[in-house]
Amino acid sequence: MRKYRILAILLLLVMIFVPYFTVIIFHGEKDTVPHTSDPEKNKIFDMDITLYRAKTDKVETVKCYDYICAVVSGEMQANYNAEALKAQTVAAFTYLINKMNYVLENPDSDIGHKGAYVCDDYTHCKAYLEKQDALKKWGDEWYEKYYPNIESAVTESLGKIITYQGSPINAVFHAISNGQTCSAAEVWGTDVPYLQSVECSADKTANDYETTVSFTHDQFSDILYDELGVVLPNDYTEWLGEIKLCDSKMVNEITIAGTVYSGTLIRQMFSLRSSTFDMSITDKDVIFTVRGYGHGVGMSQYGANEMAKKGKTYDQILTYFYTGTKIEDYKI
Ligand SMILES: [Zn+2]
Repeated sequence: MRKYRILAILLLLVMIFVPYFTVIIFHGEKDTVPHTSDPEKNKIFDMDITLYRAKTDKVETVKCYDYICAVVSGEMQANYNAEALKAQTVAAFTYLINKMNYVLENPDSDIGHKGAYVCDDYTHCKAYLEKQDALKKWGDEWYEKYYPNIESAVTESLGKIITYQGSPINAVFHAISNGQTCSAAEVWGTDVPYLQSVECSADKTANDYETTVSFTHDQFSDILYDELGVVLPNDYTEWLGEIKLCDSKMVNEITIAGTVYSGTLIRQMFSLRSSTFDMSITDKDVIFTVRGYGHGVGMSQYGANEMAKKGKTYDQILTYFYTGTKIEDYKI
């Protein structure tokens, strides 16, 4: 009887652990950071990065190579062209160095990370999708097919940095522009010499370039009331006033029932994909037609992929979107 019980326990253990080890073996969860023939590059791959994990409220130390792979898989579609993935790698690394320098130079300042250089919250720093989470999110087939693309893009390009007049830039990016990128001055009110508007008409070919969002009159007026305490007049034909656009076509100001709002505020309140939109009101609905996805500043990821498909290299892509910048080797 006892023999059978031991056998049953052993069988149970095998059933539990065999799939576990299979996952580890086949998906390489037991990582080692790859090394190249360039010792300087290897030092960067192995650099320790402090990362604040929002969910656990803890700071972890991860290798730079692993951090960048997780950011690229969280931020860009893995089936994008290799040169676009490299451009994303260099943008992510430049962002990291910028933050790291800030934290090291200002040890007493609190940027909400418990002293870590970066966090894993995409609304605060960058999206962060570790291997095992990518596998869960993408499924086996997609993971096996595309995850190696991320690793090879990171292996090839990690160590390069985007600089403006010798300093690492704030390498912001977005998913799809409205047909041209927006300047930092238009979106955030501060001029940044390397964040100017550039043409990106290829973005108009994205499947989800244009999206439509509708609200009933009640939903629309409830949101304005809840967010800002605004009470709209009963006659809906009095609601929509003038819409003023920026040079790059995003909404600068929109007048609703006599009050002027920024396009960015309306985007936030109605969860629009971008601040480039038309608004129309029928006798039933308020309809937003939105173009592009994201804040519109810096590199357009879709645009980067289109340029890569046409043969542009990652450094050509980056210096196109970030005006007057250079791609240099980072020195530890
Ligand atoms: Zn953060």
